[in-house]
Amino acid sequence: MKGITKFMKKPWFLGILVFAMAILVIWNIPIEKRKYGFSQSGLATDYTGLLPERIEKVVNVHNRNELQRIVQEANKKGKHISIAGLQHSQGGHTYYKDGIVLDMRGFNRIVEINKQAKIVRVESGASWEDVQEAVTPYGLALQVTQSQSIFTIGGSLSVNAHGRDIRFGPMAETVREMTVLTPTGEIKQLTRDDTEEWTTYILGGYGLFGVILDVTLNLTENEVYTIHTKKIETEKYESYLHRVLENQNIAMHYARISVAPGTFLDEMYVIDYNKTKKQDKTTSLKEEEGVRVSKFALDLGRKGGKLEDLFWEAQRLYINSIDGKTITRNNAMRSESTFMEFTTPGRVEVLQEFFIPVDSYEEYMQSLKDLLPHNDQDEDFKVHNITVRYAAKDNMTSLPYAKEDMLGLVILVQHGLKEKEIAHAKTMIQKWTDVTLQYGGTYYLPYYPYQTKEQFKESYPNWKSFKKQKAERDPNEVFVNLFYDHYMK
Ligand SMILES: Cc1cc2nc3c(=O)[nH]c(=O)nc-3n(C[C@H](O)[C@H](O)[C@H](O)COP(=O)(O)OP(=O)(O)OC[C@H]3O[C@@H](n4cnc5c(N)ncnc54)[C@H](O)[C@@H]3O)c2cc1C
Repeated sequence: MKGITKFMKKPWFLGILVFAMAILVIWNIPIEKRKYGFSQSGLATDYTGLLPERIEKVVNVHNRNELQRIVQEANKKGKHISIAGLQHSQGGHTYYKDGIVLDMRGFNRIVEINKQAKIVRVESGASWEDVQEAVTPYGLALQVTQSQSIFTIGGSLSVNAHGRDIRFGPMAETVREMTVLTPTGEIKQLTRDDTEEWTTYILGGYGLFGVILDVTLNLTENEVYTIHTKKIETEKYESYLHRVLENQNIAMHYARISVAPGTFLDEMYVIDYNKTKKQDKTTSLKEEEGVRVSKFALDLGRKGGKLEDLFWEAQRLYINSIDGKTITRNNAMRSESTFMEFTTPGRVEVLQEFFIPVDSYEEYMQSLKDLLPHNDQDEDFKVHNITVRYAAKDNMTSLPYAKEDMLGLVILVQHGLKEKEIAHAKTMIQKWTDVTLQYGGTYYLPYYPYQTKEQFKESYPNWKSFKKQKAERDPNEVFVNLFYDHYMK
């Protein structure tokens, strides 16, 4: 006993003790997976679980003949169908009251890889991860995808997703050919010269114009990049980005804005991926790393106040540590996602994304400073993370969020689930949307629809022709979902 007391007085012993306890705490951080999907007490939900609904049945799709029969029958009998990929959308886009849900996850074959032509043909239920695993050994990589690889091809094309690439334009432009199943049960092969304009409505069409069966995507080299990182002031970002866009040596870029009280919306970290002209065929795809430590840091940040300042500093250390490192294109397109899981009972963490024209960025940030609390420690509505991506002008889809070259601000927001807490979150998001609209911006549609119908109409002025085409191409409303009901009915 005496011996232990003696040891406890030694600084090195205390150091070891603190270290061991820290490891123990970090090791015990639960890496729970959020529960969502079709089996929640007989109700369907999607990623946030905010819109539970009873559905008729789920069909696990495995072949196109079976799919064609289901759609033809629904068209005849007046039944409703929704299409689900990995259900990361958050506004009921993948199901409908008493409807049939097509679970596309089993429809995931890689049909063909042509190394010379740099293309891959893949069934729509495959995830980006499946495609990356198939094309990496050929030294090839995707042209456009989200920063994570956890989504399906069909789901991503139906929202026309975007990520870190700044050179290949919207995701829709990377589609060379596509096979689709229309609402009347016809199978159509679509090329880029699609005179009937099915492509315009299927890509970015939120599963409302038919099922994407397979897609031929253009690929590029799995190049090796060097990462360059820097801390800058928000007011310098616009000119920084223009320099990035002019510098053809930079292939990918994103940025992070401080939401910590001490530097609120004043500081940013920028991350660029510079070309090395080296193609990679040997580096394997990276697995999720450092999940517990990242989750621990994010959970601290989620508490707000000084802890959020600390989290911003921790990010600085991380971002400094990757400066100068090399990474393959495929690995830059598969960032960690598990550490983001938020499973606190009675609360939810949702995504929202606002787009604003590149040259309005600085004024927009000034307006946001007036709207949002600098320190949200004691607030119910908490903003935890804002990343910035570049979204090039989209001329291909019928509901484009990028009517010109835009910056997308991806926001992670936490709020309570009591009626008045949801109502407050709605008010905040609607105010945020109003500010965005004042600057000629839009908001992203795959997320929970806090916005009003009027805000939707102003953001997407083409909604009328979208609705008209829907009535013409799907007169019996075979393909519907809660998103369609909310905005188009
Ligand atoms: C953590 C997280 C990070 C995200 N990051 C990004 C990002 O960086 N960039 C970005 O743009 N978005 C991002 N998103 C949004 C995400 O890209 C979309 O929600 C995408 O649709 C998810 O793919 P999914 O397979 O989960 O699609 P689902 O949610 O299953 O479906 C989305 C839509 O596609 C339709 N659909 C699905 N499969 C088909 C098919 N085969 N044929 C026709 N329609 C179909 C559905 O009906 C639905 O309307 C993110 C979402 C989350 C949760």
